[in-house]
Amino acid sequence: MAATEKTFYLETFGCQMNAHDSEKVVGTLISEGYRQVETVEEAGLVLYNTCSIRDKAEQKVFHRLADYKKLQKEGKKFGVLGCVAQQEGHKIFERAPHVSLVCGSASYWKLPGMLAQLDTDIIRDDRPRSSQLAADGLVRITGLDDRQTDKCFETEFTARTNPHRGYITIIEGCDKFCSYCVVPFTRGKERSRTSESVLAEAQRMADLGYTEIQLLGQNVNSYKDPAGKKSFAELLDAVGRVPGIRRVRFTTSHPRDFGKDIVDAIDSNQALCDHVHLPVQSGSTRMLDAMQRLYTRDQYLERISWMKAAKRDISITCDVIVGFPGETEHDFEETLSLLDEVQYDGVFAFKYSPRPNTPAIGLDDAIPDAEKSRRLNFLLERQRSIQQKRNQKHLGESVEVMVESRNEARAQWVGRTTQNKTLNFTSDRNLELGSYVPVRVTTAFPNSLVGELAI
Ligand code: SAM
Ligand code: SF4
Repeated sequence: MAATEKTFYLETFGCQMNAHDSEKVVGTLISEGYRQVETVEEAGLVLYNTCSIRDKAEQKVFHRLADYKKLQKEGKKFGVLGCVAQQEGHKIFERAPHVSLVCGSASYWKLPGMLAQLDTDIIRDDRPRSSQLAADGLVRITGLDDRQTDKCFETEFTARTNPHRGYITIIEGCDKFCSYCVVPFTRGKERSRTSESVLAEAQRMADLGYTEIQLLGQNVNSYKDPAGKKSFAELLDAVGRVPGIRRVRFTTSHPRDFGKDIVDAIDSNQALCDHVHLPVQSGSTRMLDAMQRLYTRDQYLERISWMKAAKRDISITCDVIVGFPGETEHDFEETLSLLDEVQYDGVFAFKYSPRPNTPAIGLDDAIPDAEKSRRLNFLLERQRSIQQKRNQKHLGESVEVMVESRNEARAQWVGRTTQNKTLNFTSDRNLELGSYVPVRVTTAFPNSLVGELAI
C-alpha cells in the first residue's frame, strides 16, 4: 500500500435499504479518492454497515468490532455505520475505543465532510487537533441524526454491484412507530425525494443498460413528492415508462398507505411487476392494535381483494411476527387463517424480538422462546404447503424470466419471473446475463420453479 493511498473495506448486514446505502457509501468513498479492497487486512479504513432490526443485533456488532480490534495496526481506522450506529451512538466509542467514526443512515449525506476529517487523520502521522479529539488522543467523528434532518442521501456516485437491476431509494425514514420496531429511531423521520430526481436517476440507469429498477423505502408507498407533482402510483407508472426499463418493483409497502391506485397502475402498465410485498404482521385485529399497525384484519383483507380482482395475476408476499407480547393461541390461529385465506406466494416470518427504545419494550415478553419457535415453525410449515400449491399452477406455463446467473454445478440458469419467483432452467444455448427469455415450467417446489428454455 502506497504511503498515502486511501483504501477501505466495507461489510454490510441487513435489508435491501442497507445494501443500497452501502452502494452509495462505496460510490462516495471512491469519488473521494479511496480504493475498495477485498479484505480487512488490506484496508486503511474498515467500515461496518449494521442492522438492528432483531436478535440482539448490537451484541453481534460489538463482537465483530472486537474481532476487528485484533487486526488493528498503526493507522488503521474503523467506522460503524447504519442502524446500530444510530441506536448506540457514543456508547460505541466507550465499548470499542478503536472506532473513529459512528454514523447513522440519516447523516450519510455528511460523509464527504466526515471522510475529509478522518482522512487527514489517516494519512498524517501527526494527529490533527480535531475538535472531536477525545481525552485518549483518538479522533472521534459522529454523524447522529436528531430526527431534524430533511435531507435524503442523494449522490451521483452510486457503485451498483449488479449491471442489470438496481435499487433507487425514493423515501427514507419512517413515521409510523409500530410498537415493536426500532426503524423510526434508527433511520429518522420520513423524507421523500422529488419525483424529478427519482426519474432522472431511473433515466441515468436506463442509459447505462439497466432494465430492472426496484424502488425502495421502509414504507415505500408513504412516498410524498416534495414538489407535489406525483403520487406514489403515478411515480411507479412514470418509472415504468422510462425508455429501456422493462421491470419495476417496489418494497416495502405499508397496508395503511396502500391505495387501489397502486393496483390500477400495475394493471395498466406492463413494466410494473406482478408482485406486491404487503406485510401484515398478524391476522388478529387485537394484536394489530397492540402493535400500533393502524389497520384491522378486514382493512388489510380489503387491500388483498383489490389485488385479487386485478386483471393481472399479482403474487402477494408478506411479513409476519409471531409471539408478540399478549399473543394468545387464538390470535395465532387468526394469523394462520389469514394465510389460508390470502394464499400468499411467500411469507417472511419472525419471532418477536424486544428492541431498545420501542414502546413494546415495556410490555411483558412472557411468551417463552420455545413457544415462539413452535409457532414460527408451525406457521412456516403451513405456508410451505400453500406455496407448493401456488407454484403448481405454473406447471406447463411459459413465463418470461430475467437471466440472473448460471449455476454450473447443476448445469442450470437462474432466472426470476415478474412475480419475483426463482426459476432454475436448462438451455442448450449460451445465454446472456440480464437478458429476458421465455421458460416453460416443468416442476414446482415450494420456494422455486424448474423449467426449460422455451425458444
Ligand atoms: N416497513 C415495513 C412494514 O411496515 O411492514 C417493514 C420494515 S421492517 C425493516 C421488516 C420486518 O421486520 C417487519 O415487517 C417485521 O415483520 C420485522 N420486524 C421488525 N421489528 C421486529 C421485531 N422487533 N421483532 C421481530 N420482527 C420484527
Ligand atoms: Fe417499522 Fe412499522 Fe415503520 Fe415498518 S412501518 S419500518 S414495521 S415502524
